[in-house]
Amino acid sequence: MTISQNLGFPRIGERRELKKATEAYWKGDLDRAGLEATGAELRRSNWAKQKSAGIDLIPSNDFSFYDQVLGLSCLIGNVPERFGWDGSNMNIDVAFDMARGTQGAIACEMTKWFDTNYHYLVPEFTQNTTFNLVGSKIFDEFAEAKAQGITTKPVMVGPATYLTLGKVTDGSGLNKFDLADSLIDVYVQIAEKLAADGAEWLQIDEPIFSLDLDDTQRAVIEKAYAKLAQVDGIKIMVANYFGQLADNMELFTSLPVAALHIDAVRGLKEAEVVAARLDDEKYLSVGIIDGRNIWKTDLERALATIETVKGEIGAERLIVGPSCSLLHSPVTLRSETKLDDEFKNWLAFAEEKLDEIVFIANAADSKIDKTMLAANKQAMADRADSARIHDAAVKRRAEAAADKDMQRGAPYADRAASQHAKLDLPAYPTTTIGSFPQTQEVRKARAAHKKGSLPDAEYDAFLEEKIAEAVKMQEDMGFDMLVHGEFERNDMVEYFGEQLAGYAFTKFGWVQSYGSRYVKPPIIFGDVSRPQAMTVKWSKYAQSLTDKPMKGMLTGPVTMVQWAFVRDDQPRSETVKQVALAIRDEVVDLEAAGLAAIQIDEAAFREGLPLRRADWDAYLEWAVECFRLASCGVADDTQIHTHMCYSEFNDIIEAIADMDADCISIETSRSQMELLDAFVQFKYPNEIGPGVYDIHSPRVPDKQEMIELLKKATEVLPAERVWVNPDCGLKTRGWAEVEPALKHMVDAARELRAKA
Ligand code: GLN
Ligand code: ZN
Repeated sequence: MTISQNLGFPRIGERRELKKATEAYWKGDLDRAGLEATGAELRRSNWAKQKSAGIDLIPSNDFSFYDQVLGLSCLIGNVPERFGWDGSNMNIDVAFDMARGTQGAIACEMTKWFDTNYHYLVPEFTQNTTFNLVGSKIFDEFAEAKAQGITTKPVMVGPATYLTLGKVTDGSGLNKFDLADSLIDVYVQIAEKLAADGAEWLQIDEPIFSLDLDDTQRAVIEKAYAKLAQVDGIKIMVANYFGQLADNMELFTSLPVAALHIDAVRGLKEAEVVAARLDDEKYLSVGIIDGRNIWKTDLERALATIETVKGEIGAERLIVGPSCSLLHSPVTLRSETKLDDEFKNWLAFAEEKLDEIVFIANAADSKIDKTMLAANKQAMADRADSARIHDAAVKRRAEAAADKDMQRGAPYADRAASQHAKLDLPAYPTTTIGSFPQTQEVRKARAAHKKGSLPDAEYDAFLEEKIAEAVKMQEDMGFDMLVHGEFERNDMVEYFGEQLAGYAFTKFGWVQSYGSRYVKPPIIFGDVSRPQAMTVKWSKYAQSLTDKPMKGMLTGPVTMVQWAFVRDDQPRSETVKQVALAIRDEVVDLEAAGLAAIQIDEAAFREGLPLRRADWDAYLEWAVECFRLASCGVADDTQIHTHMCYSEFNDIIEAIADMDADCISIETSRSQMELLDAFVQFKYPNEIGPGVYDIHSPRVPDKQEMIELLKKATEVLPAERVWVNPDCGLKTRGWAEVEPALKHMVDAARELRAKA
């Protein structure tokens, strides 16, 4: 009999119950028992849902109050010394301290989990690091489910992935992989205890199989699973997801464990190869249901893959599951009462994916749910030729996009001359990245307008007032290039998505980003176009209030797609190209409306890089082309800006230069201008605004420190190409900090100018 399994279920709850409870606990409005009760209820409900859907192997320990990697650090007692943990009594407060920081100890670093928008807490290693089984969460939750009549499959991040994702923090030159032996010992203890507790399976996640691995990592993997395979009475399943195995195939299939899980969505072509290579004893879990997207699975096609695998290994050792944990999917479609039925019928969120898994597992045993299959076929057909998806004009236009549409008229040096003549800016021109504080007042007005209680005319008047205030403030301070402040925007992607054809929005489609922060990505379902201007009204109004140049403000095509659920019926690059053309229309309209400078933010440009190096060039090529498509419709004397958030730039600097924006602003203040090195070494030819003020902190920097940063920058960059700006937008800050900080920044520029 084919086995159905899940790798992990969203922990946040249908109505964001987890967020509400954790935030209440942090505020002191809920006690520990109350928090634990919410956690227990979420787990109970998730297990019950999976059981009633018919899932055979139901995960436990996939729940977390914050993050599963942090949870593992706590389980094995890897708590940095600065948190003053006494080595006993592991509890949730230790985890929260690490995640959020305390008065005396800064929080652990957080970073993106592979190519998802989920963030994990980076494990820290030092010469003093030891691992001890001090926590009990994985055992407690197994017992908890057992008491509810479910023998779960506990899940944990694997030792090789854990070491890979962590970093050495004491500057000791320690090789973190030297910690492998003691780490593996703890994993063996955990597996033994779970076996003693009655667990039949243990799922160990090693998504680093989707990365390029070196010999050290390979050696750790071999050692770990040679040892773990010896634990009696429990079946170990090693799970890879988020990508293909590629040249890790050999290592993966030779692991001496009971079961292997592969991502058969991104690694579809490999499913058959792995099956053919499998020895006669191993189980193979085929992750055929997409855990990273929200579309219904084409069941007939999925079944064909499963049948092929079954042909190789038989039904007894076949497991069907999602490609990865469903943590990255919204919880349930049931809540989406505002989406129309036709559209809803194309989607599957986590709960609906469970039904798809069970359908496939049953079908593999010849128990085909004919009604479900027929409905699925109909849904696939409806979606494929729906008029809502296909816009022939958009397709024709994308097809016709040519090299000349991706070229400015003249090279940068010539453009710069005409821009400088037109803009008449002083040396060290000052500007900001776009947004000003989204105050309570601004949010309230937007919410009221959305609800319908604030009429359009009044809302527009309110926004005009905010813009006028911002323009006056910037003029008073002496800014050289102004922004309107982005008061009309809820979010840099949602604002545009709501105005573009081809985008849809859910009401409850939240996905955890980190801790209690969730995002609700839009769904790009069809050909994208811009029915009408999106920002021109506000930028034009702002420009009308001042003689100083106003900078139009847009989100770039890569970022617009990176932070959304994308269509699965055409390549990602095609979708980005359509978005680029829509943005190009806006750029051209802004220019026609009298804006002499336009910024196109590409905050997620680096984030879009594929997991494997071999795939980078192809990505960078189309990503750069799309930026150029969006930005090159203007005359030479219109200045194109772009902005990128905190990024490692070294290995993509050539592509950034290829984007050929007249000016790029980047985040550099926290690294003391270190991030500028890539630009310096490459001799980046265009203008650059290295951020001089860290907007992530409420701290107000003084003039002198910004002067120092700017001096550092001008030591290595030609002064005539240096702009003065903060690290990023100011929407999350308050005016009380922003006003003095910006004043100091403008004064710093003035002082440098005077001395020049
Ligand atoms: N223009 C945007 C802002 O200022 C840029 C935000 C970002 O890069 N994340 O808010
Ligand atoms: Zn930014």
